[in-house]
Amino acid sequence: MSSSTTDTGKRIVVLGAGYAGLAAAKGAGRHRTVTLVAPEERLLHRIRQHETAAGRGREWPAIGELARGRRIRHRRARAVALDPAGHEIVLDDGTTLGYDTLVYALGSRTAWHDVPGAAEHAHPVERAAEVRRLLRENDRFGTLAVVGGGATGIELATELAEAHPGRQVRIVAAGQVGGSYSPKGRAHIRRVLDRLGVTVHENATVTEVTPDGLRTTAGPIDADLTVWAASMEPHPLAAEAGLAVDDRGRALVDDHLRSVSHPDVHVVGDAAAVTVPGVGTLRMGCATALPQGQYVGKLLDGRTAAPFSFRYAVQCLSLGRRDGLLQLVHPDDSMKPTVLTGTAGRLAKAGIVTAVLGALK
Ligand SMILES: Cc1cc2nc3c(=O)[nH]c(=O)nc-3n(C[C@H](O)[C@H](O)[C@H](O)COP(=O)(O)OP(=O)(O)OC[C@H]3O[C@@H](n4cnc5c(N)ncnc54)[C@H](O)[C@@H]3O)c2cc1C
Repeated sequence: MSSSTTDTGKRIVVLGAGYAGLAAAKGAGRHRTVTLVAPEERLLHRIRQHETAAGRGREWPAIGELARGRRIRHRRARAVALDPAGHEIVLDDGTTLGYDTLVYALGSRTAWHDVPGAAEHAHPVERAAEVRRLLRENDRFGTLAVVGGGATGIELATELAEAHPGRQVRIVAAGQVGGSYSPKGRAHIRRVLDRLGVTVHENATVTEVTPDGLRTTAGPIDADLTVWAASMEPHPLAAEAGLAVDDRGRALVDDHLRSVSHPDVHVVGDAAAVTVPGVGTLRMGCATALPQGQYVGKLLDGRTAAPFSFRYAVQCLSLGRRDGLLQLVHPDDSMKPTVLTGTAGRLAKAGIVTAVLGALK
């Protein structure tokens, strides 16, 4: 058995090295030893995955590099089972890891929504490197479909269209593409999609994915390659382990981000259903995961005892490398009419992405 022993004899384990887990480990690891469990060597940096898919991403920093200066032991493994009563985690290398305090930050993954053929024939956006490889190796892939009309689908479709001008990119949405943005924001997204030659299929719920494309409620859509960016679902381990979860499988937490059923487990990021008074239940996003991880890091380091607080300010999108959208929002994430577009929007988005990486260094 491996374990991490703190100065006080308490073992702190963080599961997951995404924005939430890494931020929590860095905060807690200032004065205490933390075992950070995640399979990857390098930061996944999910908010740049559309760039990777389009062939533009670069290698992100190693977890070890980001953990430098902290008392963090990175254990490259996957958790396969969690026993919150026994305070133990089973890893995929067959070992068991004990803990006194657990930070659960296993994030989310593509939700296939039980659409027939989706898991077999579509490529989830988080396998961006695979999409890049397939596009490099297959000149005959002339038509690409991106399923999902939300932020991830829009970023992916614009990035692919800009990087592959010889290929026909289609964006397919069950409702309106960019439907959650303000009218000005939506209009700008539509202008950029049109400029980049992306075909927009709205009110087209996908009912089946085939090797040749999609069947939808608005008719068939041809595609040589389908990338799935429809929605995300939380990692299932919390529910499997018996932590109290909401109807989406996100762990229910109190105002200190502790599981309501198992208070020695903090849950942060996409895995947690965090409700903030006056704001509501936070959406999955790097924008919410990073501050949650930072907060729990401070809590475990004794730098705060206050409840978690959060207010939204902006939503931002990259629209290829030359355009972007910064949408101002109210503290509860509802839209304000004001947007920044074009170069200003692009620079604002790039600044935020740089700040995210900076916060993890
Ligand atoms: C293309 C794209 C663009 C996006 N753009 C934005 C954006 O602009 N703004 C925004 O707010 N959000 C954006 N998001 C969403 C954002 O990336 C996620 O909400 C965010 O990554 C959640 O962070 P997290 O730390 O909770 O989990 P994740 O980033 O999902 O990290 C989960 C961690 O858990 C690890 N893990 C998984 N399973 C196991 C296991 N069994 N054992 C151990 N470790 C495990 C993973 O390897 C990883 O280290 C985007 C997502 C995508 C895909």
